[in-house]
Amino acid sequence: MKQKETLSNTQLEPEELDDLDFAHVGTSYDTPLRADAFEMDDELKVEMISKHFKEIMQILGLDLDDDSLQGTPQRVAKMYVQEVFSGLNPKNKPSARLFENKYNYDQMLVEKDITFYSHCEHHFVPIYGKAHVAYFSSGKVIGLSKINRIVQYYAKRPQVQERLTVQISNELQQILDTEDVAVVVDATHMCVSSRGVNDTNSRTGTAQFSGKFLDQQIKTEFLNYINSNTEI
Ligand SMILES: [Zn+2]
Repeated sequence: MKQKETLSNTQLEPEELDDLDFAHVGTSYDTPLRADAFEMDDELKVEMISKHFKEIMQILGLDLDDDSLQGTPQRVAKMYVQEVFSGLNPKNKPSARLFENKYNYDQMLVEKDITFYSHCEHHFVPIYGKAHVAYFSSGKVIGLSKINRIVQYYAKRPQVQERLTVQISNELQQILDTEDVAVVVDATHMCVSSRGVNDTNSRTGTAQFSGKFLDQQIKTEFLNYINSNTEI
């Protein structure tokens, strides 16, 4: 089992937790999962979340006998387990099939504007945006749709944007057997735009550059490409 890379494992005081929420800083590159995270099957998870969500709605004062609300707890539970948080479960991880780099293409390969939807782990509201990924082949290449699937897999978790960026980069480095990977994520956090400071215009950028991408010229080439508007 992989060692957890913990940046800080000290217990935080409640005020410090508030600060953490405000700064949107994560404490680990690995999603903090319980040891027994997958002992319960998906069916039981849906049943239990549904029961608890129903209670939340009732506490809020909603009448669950109303036709429009009746199915909501079950709908939310299914959406959590089978869709928006399905990336928590390693069984849903996309399998990585590699191909020989037959054309001996040794330049940068960029896949930009990969749309993703995630959820902020501090407020459980959406984070959405675009991921831009690039790599240099070490002899193998990956199907382009697989890069999208890797981004979606890590997005479908309660996340912090920094961790999402690093997780995508780590996964690609491992699959492609190269450090020469760059990931840039540009996102809107609904916990910032729709509540709290209600800032509807700000976006958050994060980047992880490794290997050759630490070279300023190569980094610039990648950034110029993702900022360019190539119409085909
Ligand atoms: Zn948030």
